[in-house]
Amino acid sequence: MTREKVLQQDPASLCPQDILGRQVLLPVRFYDFSGASAEGEVVIDRDLERDVAELFALLFEKRFPIASAIPVASPLFGWDDARSMRANNTSGFNYRPMTGSAMRPSNHALGRAIDINPLLNPYIKGDIVLPAGAVYNPARPGTIDADSFIVWFLKDHGWTWGGDWTSLKDYQHFEKTGAL
Ligand SMILES: [Zn+2]
Repeated sequence: MTREKVLQQDPASLCPQDILGRQVLLPVRFYDFSGASAEGEVVIDRDLERDVAELFALLFEKRFPIASAIPVASPLFGWDDARSMRANNTSGFNYRPMTGSAMRPSNHALGRAIDINPLLNPYIKGDIVLPAGAVYNPARPGTIDADSFIVWFLKDHGWTWGGDWTSLKDYQHFEKTGAL
């Protein structure tokens, strides 16, 4: 996809131009679940491009499997996070509200968050599991737990992991908020 295509918004979402202007389309390489080398793209705020590039270099080196990395703007998903999650797709920028909130914007809306293998690393809040039917089992390849090198690497670079949250768990989710 081209950067222009990736940032083409649903007219209803009205993402501010200053946010869109900061997004970069980062090509990434990884191993998929069949063990084959694959390529994809992550849309992320330009301040986080280096962290995410280094993360994917590490994922590749350690052969941590990634199902796919396709921008949510792709016709496959049409900016629909639920479809992207069901497909176990890894993604960054998405102009949308925070899960569970109609008003508060998610850090994904700023390109300051990434979701990794969401079908294996679900969002869990009480009885709510997203994507629906997902089961969190850290023993499975592609799953992230507190001992994961992904968690250590990103925390070391100033990111927060949703698996550390207490009111809910968002195992797929990492974010790095901007400097205040
Ligand atoms: Zn997320």
